[in-house]
Amino acid sequence: MMNSNDLAYIDENLRIIRERCAEAADKYRSPDDNIRIMAVTKTVAPEAVNHAVELGIDLLGENRVQEYLSKADFYDKSAEVQFIGHLQTNKVKYIINSVSMIQSVDSLKLGQEISRLAVKDGRTMDILCEVNIGGEDSKSGIAPSELKELMDGLSELEGIRIRGLMTIPPPSDSDIFLGRMKELYDSISSGYKGLDTLSMGMTHDYAEAIRYGSTLVRIGTGLFGARDYSR
Ligand SMILES: *Cc1c(COP(=O)(O)O)cnc(C)c1O
Repeated sequence: MMNSNDLAYIDENLRIIRERCAEAADKYRSPDDNIRIMAVTKTVAPEAVNHAVELGIDLLGENRVQEYLSKADFYDKSAEVQFIGHLQTNKVKYIINSVSMIQSVDSLKLGQEISRLAVKDGRTMDILCEVNIGGEDSKSGIAPSELKELMDGLSELEGIRIRGLMTIPPPSDSDIFLGRMKELYDSISSGYKGLDTLSMGMTHDYAEAIRYGSTLVRIGTGLFGARDYSR
C-alpha cells in the first residue's frame, strides 16, 4: 500500500503546474478566463489519482476504455471524469454513463452512437471535436478542412451538445499549431451556439497552450511522473 508520504511528489508537481498556469494566465489571459487542469490518469494507480483529487484536482482524463473500467470503482467519485482517448463506436456503451464529456469525437458515426445512447438514457452528452491540427497520419482527429461538415452533422443529432474542440498538436513546433487551433476555434465559434471549451496543452506545452487560449489543459507526466507501461 502506498501512503501519502510516497505520493508527496504529486503535491510538489501540482504546486509547480498551478504556479506555471497562473503565471501564463496572468500574462496572456483576462482575469475572468476559466482554465481547468485535468489530471490524465493512464497507467497511474488509483491511489495516486485519488491523492491528486485530495489536493483539489476535480477533473480526470481517461484514454482507454478497458483501463478506465478496471480502475473506476477505486476512484474518489468527487472528481468529474472525461474521456479523451480514441474511442471505437462499439465501446461507447461502456463509458457513456460515467463520464461527463467525450473529448475525442472525430467522426459522425461516433457522434451518432453517442447520440443514440444518450437519447435512450434521456440525457445530453457534452462532446468536443478532436482536430488533427498537424495533419499527422499517426493521430486521430478530423482534418481542419472537414471540421465544419462534421460539426454541422453533429449539430443535427439529439442528445449531444458540442462544447468545443480538442487537439494534440505535433510535439515539435507545437506553438505554431496551438496558434492555428486558436484561429480555427475562433473562426467556428460564431457559427455554433454554446462553445466554451478549447482543450489543448499537455506536459510539454501547457503554458504555451494557455497563451494561445486553452481553457482546459490535460496533464499526465508532469503531475504523476513518467508513465510505466509495464504495470
Ligand atoms: C496522455 C495524454 C495527455 C497527457 O500527456 P502528458 O504528456 O503525459 O501530459 C493528454 N491528452 C491526451 C489525449 C493524452 O492521451
